Amino acid sequence: MELPPRVKVSEMSPGEAPPHGLAADQRNGCPWHDVQALLREVKLRPTRQRMALGWLLFAKGDRHLTAEMLYEEANRAKIPVSLATVYNTLHQFTDAGLLREVTVNGSKTYFDTNVSDHHHFFIESEHNLVDIPDADAIVGRLPQVPEGYEISRVDVVVRLRPKKR
Ligand SMILES: [Zn+2]
Repeated sequence: MELPPRVKVSEMSPGEAPPHGLAADQRNGCPWHDVQALLREVKLRPTRQRMALGWLLFAKGDRHLTAEMLYEEANRAKIPVSLATVYNTLHQFTDAGLLREVTVNGSKTYFDTNVSDHHHFFIESEHNLVDIPDADAIVGRLPQVPEGYEISRVDVVVRLRPKKR
């Protein structure tokens, strides 16, 4: 994601102000107008909470976050938001195509800000999801799909662990 030009706080209208608690340098450097444009583009009303969470998600390049991780980041940034709201917002963003859901196992779902086709390494000991740069490297032969269906997406998660000595 290319960083947009800096937006001065003084140029913002009151409705666009970042949440309280964000450091001044964060406010100056954040692509606040971009998050708003992003939300408008997918027809989501840019509420304060969506704006704040969108800013956390999209202002730092490609990221893989669980709801809990984003909730903790929001807490650290003093954004008043509940875990339930974080969940709801992540699912709204996913439905709108802004995020991609990657389920690593039944209970662990990561939200990926990179919605392009790609696969992942999962480093089990660190609970860390990492992009695999070359998408072609993974899928050699796809199965025949039932009539009337097409493949919508192929998700590959390659699990890694440290080599045993
Ligand atoms: Zn990814």
